Amino acid sequence: MSTPTIAVTGGPTLPQERRLVTEVPGPRSRELAERKSAAVTNAVGTMLPVYTVAAGGGVVVDVDGNSLIDLGSGIAVTSVGNSNPRVAAAVADQVAAFTHTCFMVTPYDGYVRVAEALNRLTPGDHAKKSALFNSGAEAVENAVKIARSATRKQAVVAFDHGYHGRTNLTMALTAKSMPYKSGFGPFAPEVYRAPMSYPFRDGDVDGPAAAHRAIDVIEKQVGAANLAAVVIEPIQGEGGFVVPAPGFLQAVADWCTANGVVFIADEVQTGFARTGDLFACDDEGVVPDLIVTAKGIAGGLPLAAVTGRAELMDAPHAGGLGGTYGGNPLACAAALAVLEAIEEDGLVARARQLGTTMLDRLRALQADDPRIGDVRGRGAMVAMELVVPGTTEPDAALAAQVAAACHAAGVVVLTCGTWGNVFRFLPPLSMPDHLLAEAFDVVAEALAATKGM
Ligand SMILES: *Cc1c(COP(=O)(O)O)cnc(C)c1O
Repeated sequence: MSTPTIAVTGGPTLPQERRLVTEVPGPRSRELAERKSAAVTNAVGTMLPVYTVAAGGGVVVDVDGNSLIDLGSGIAVTSVGNSNPRVAAAVADQVAAFTHTCFMVTPYDGYVRVAEALNRLTPGDHAKKSALFNSGAEAVENAVKIARSATRKQAVVAFDHGYHGRTNLTMALTAKSMPYKSGFGPFAPEVYRAPMSYPFRDGDVDGPAAAHRAIDVIEKQVGAANLAAVVIEPIQGEGGFVVPAPGFLQAVADWCTANGVVFIADEVQTGFARTGDLFACDDEGVVPDLIVTAKGIAGGLPLAAVTGRAELMDAPHAGGLGGTYGGNPLACAAALAVLEAIEEDGLVARARQLGTTMLDRLRALQADDPRIGDVRGRGAMVAMELVVPGTTEPDAALAAQVAAACHAAGVVVLTCGTWGNVFRFLPPLSMPDHLLAEAFDVVAEALAATKGM
């Protein structure tokens, strides 16, 4: 039995409006949620169980006919907009031509073109090569394999609040136990953790001092002679949109270069115009040895990549890297269309505009709401951290309450952070101004409604 759905077409014709015709979630979504409970493992959660029938521009439309404003982009994936016409057309053409051969069996040009584009667009003008995979976690794992193979060393350092995925090695790299790791060990060995630069919680520790603190831990607890790679998100995602203090990343990268350690930037969440640069490393001119990309790369089709110094990328033996679906032709077609959309539609500049609008609005709210401890971010990757007024003590309950109120009012918002007290705003870069303003009106109302509670 299938629930009847409303016929809605995505893409540019989708009305750009917040429109609630039932409560959220509505009756059809609730019926589907019941079937989900019976058929799908409870271990895969759904944050806002409205069942989608169409999405595009700045909205998600559900089976009940509600049109919600999207401030999540499917976790920073649909940066060019959901059902982007360029992506839809490119994928449709590719489906009609062929869907799969396996690049390791009979290859195709789309994979090579994506690699060429990544080699050209990622930070640094040294000779680069790429390899394509299916998910961010898979690509992070492969970056570590490449670094180990190239350095013939084993240890890997990741940071407090870091998130790198849910596979065994990436669980080990990820900092937070619940829900990502708890009960799933044993974890991959030779993974060590260093302190991050977290300006809101760091007091006077500036970027270079925070780097010194991290390097000291690395030298004392691991030793450069044993260390293959340092893996870091230039702006942390799941961990709370933590933007390190200026100079931190460069100092860590410089130490890596001086000590024969591969500096791996995990730009899975920050890449492809999201932060108002093509990549977050571009902001300070940091040049990673290897850069890992996924999420925003292909408009929602599963694709990920490792791009980096040609001599590192060529270190593993022939046949040592790969996978059945890695660089699938549909995903490659989508990625090429995404890159075209970013350039032709000026989405790097658009990310900056959206960011300025969001930061201005949040700072105005913060001015008379001491529960907003910090407002931070870059480009269209912006967060507010909720705390007990006058302290840095996280207030996760408040974050959950405000998020629930936003959802009920038809705005898709996401929370994150080690303590679950951070709101993260990730609108698609196709978000129209009027909808962004309306979404933040809803956030403001939701915050106001909880004052004095
Ligand atoms: C989401 C994410 C990953 C994991 O990507 P998946 O595609 O979910 O495997 C890795 N690193 C960062 C920074 C991420 O945000």
